[in-house]
Amino acid sequence: MAERSCFACKTKMEKSDLIRVVVDDSGIALFDLMQKIPQRSAYLCYNKNCLDKAEKMGREKGLGKFKFEKDENLQRLKKFLENRVKEKIRFLLLSKKTVIGLEETLSFLTDIKGILFADDISENTLKKLNNKSGDVLKIKLPFLTKEDFGALINKSELGVLGVKEPLVELEKICLFYENLFSQEH
Ligand SMILES: [Zn+2]
Repeated sequence: MAERSCFACKTKMEKSDLIRVVVDDSGIALFDLMQKIPQRSAYLCYNKNCLDKAEKMGREKGLGKFKFEKDENLQRLKKFLENRVKEKIRFLLLSKKTVIGLEETLSFLTDIKGILFADDISENTLKKLNNKSGDVLKIKLPFLTKEDFGALINKSELGVLGVKEPLVELEKICLFYENLFSQEH
């Protein structure tokens, strides 16, 4: 396993848990999501603060314009993060460490470490979830509707999924996604 440090906050992490950035000939920073482009590169956490800080630091260090605002660049990152989240959910489903549905999740609450829920669950469902799940970590999936979420388990809809293992990585990615793209909602 290869470790790298985040360019902005210096935290050491596995390469695959960081975003690789390359600076192209015109001085524009590009996300190298497949981590393969043979160019001068820096790694960043899934953290909006680190992205912002990197732009500033990059410019100071003469790494060109170091700007991430190119639409296409951000759209690619968006798709990548969405796929990454779906991949992680599919993996959890396969590992059978999941409990499907609100009622089921609430009745197995002692085993549940985190709860994922669709972007468009009803007020009522959300209220019930918040009232009855105590301080279990809850993560709103910022781009998955009940239909999208259901499609991952070949059901027409899914609102709530309980997970029996910690969801640190998913939480980080979803938060990052929200911070970057929530203004589009
Ligand atoms: Zn960082």
